[in-house]
Amino acid sequence: MEIIIQKFGGTSVACNEKRKLVIDKIKKAIENNYSPVVVVSAMGRKGDPYATDTLLSLVHSNFKKKNAKAVDFLISCGEMISSAVLCSELEMQGIKAAPLTGGQAGIITDNSFNSASVKKVNEENLLKLLSQGIVPVVTGFQGVTEEGDITTLGRGGSDTTASILGVALKAKEIEIYTDVDGIMTADPRIVNDAFVISNMSYNEVFQFADQGAKVIHPRAVEAAMRGNIPLIIKNVLNESKGTIIDNSLEESNKIITGITHTSGRLQVIVKAMNNKNNINYKHLLNILADKHISIDLINVFPEEKIFTINEEDKFNLIDTFKNLDIIFNFEDKCSKLAIIGSGMKGVPGVMASILESLNNENIEVLQTADSYMTIWCLVKTENVERAINILHKKFM
Ligand code: ADP
Ligand code: ASP
Ligand code: MG
Repeated sequence: MEIIIQKFGGTSVACNEKRKLVIDKIKKAIENNYSPVVVVSAMGRKGDPYATDTLLSLVHSNFKKKNAKAVDFLISCGEMISSAVLCSELEMQGIKAAPLTGGQAGIITDNSFNSASVKKVNEENLLKLLSQGIVPVVTGFQGVTEEGDITTLGRGGSDTTASILGVALKAKEIEIYTDVDGIMTADPRIVNDAFVISNMSYNEVFQFADQGAKVIHPRAVEAAMRGNIPLIIKNVLNESKGTIIDNSLEESNKIITGITHTSGRLQVIVKAMNNKNNINYKHLLNILADKHISIDLINVFPEEKIFTINEEDKFNLIDTFKNLDIIFNFEDKCSKLAIIGSGMKGVPGVMASILESLNNENIEVLQTADSYMTIWCLVKTENVERAINILHKKFM
C-alpha cells in the first residue's frame, strides 16, 4: 500500500464539525487503498483554548526570551491535545489510530529551540503502526533532540513536519489541508478577486512562502522539493482540486503569478557625508552581522547605504549605532511587496509598469529590488493592502 501524508491545519481541527470533515478525508484515503499518515496542528487560532498563541500567552514575555526550551515544552502541548482528540474521534468511527509526539514519530532535531532543524527521521515506529493497519496521528511542529528535549520547528512548522515525514516515508504525495482552496494569486483576506493557481513549481511556491504567503511554510516546500514528492494544498471544507506543486511545470509562462508581502520592516538610511570621519561606516554590514541583525533590500552607493531590517531588531540597531556614533535615519512601519512570476525573466518594462501603477494611485515606493522571478517594492504599511489590490487588478 502506498503512503500519503495528510496534514490538517489549526482551523481544520478547531471544532467537532470541522474534524468530521477531516475524518472524511482520512476515510477516503483509506478507501482509495492508501495508508495515510496524519499530521495535525494545534486546534484553532489565537483565543481558542489550546491554540499555540493562547499557550504562549500563559507565560511572561521575559520568560519567553530567556527560556526557549521551556517555551517549546509548553507550546508542544497544543498539537498533543489535537492529536489525542482526533484519535478518539477516529476510533469512534471504527478507524484504529494512535497519537504520536514528534519524538515518537522519530523526528530528531538540533537543539535550536523555537526554530529547530530536523537532523533525521527514524521511521520504524511509523512503519510498524502502518503495517498493523493503525493510522498514526503525528503532532506537527515538533521534534526531539538527541538528548530527549522537546523542540519546535518555528511558527507554521506543522507543514514542515508533513513534508519531512513525506520524504522519509517516500510518500506518494503530501496533502496540506487548510481554510482556502489552494495557493491564490494573493491573500484572499486582502484581495476579494484572488483566484487559485492550479499548478506551480516548487521554486515559485518557495518564493511565495518565503516572502510572506502564510499558506505554506518555506521549509516544507524545500523539503518536498528535495525529496521530489508532490505537495498539494487543498481546502478541508470542499472537494476542490487545490494547488499541485511539483516539477512538471518548471517554467510558468505567466509574467506574474501572484503578489504577497512581509510587514514589520524598517528602512535604514546611512549617509557617507554624515559619517565622514567614522571608521565604523566602512564596516557597517559586518557590524550588523556581528549583532545578528539580518538585513535585506540592500543598496550600497558611494554616498549612502540603504537596507531594511525586521522591526523587532529596531532597538538593537539603535543601541549599536549609538555606541559607534553612526548617524542614520530610519523609516518605520514599512512593508515589502513581492511580485512573483517565473515568466518575468528578461521581459522589459515590468518594473516600470509596477511603479507607474503605484505612482498613479499616489503610493510612494521607498525602495525596489529584483531577482530573476521576483520584484520587491518597499511601501508604507498603511498603503500595502491598497498597493496589492492595485497590482492584482493590473496584472491578474
Ligand atoms: P493553517 O492553519 O491551515 O496552517 P494558515 O493560516 O497557516 O493555515 O494559512 C492559511 C492562510 O494563508 C489563509 O487563510 C490565507 O489568509 C493566508 N494566505 C496568505 N497568502 C495566501 C495566498 N497567496 N494564497 C492562499 N492563502 C494565503
Ligand atoms: N501550531 C503551530 C503554529 O501555530 C504550528 C502550525 O500550526 O503549523 O505556529
Ligand atoms: Mg499554517
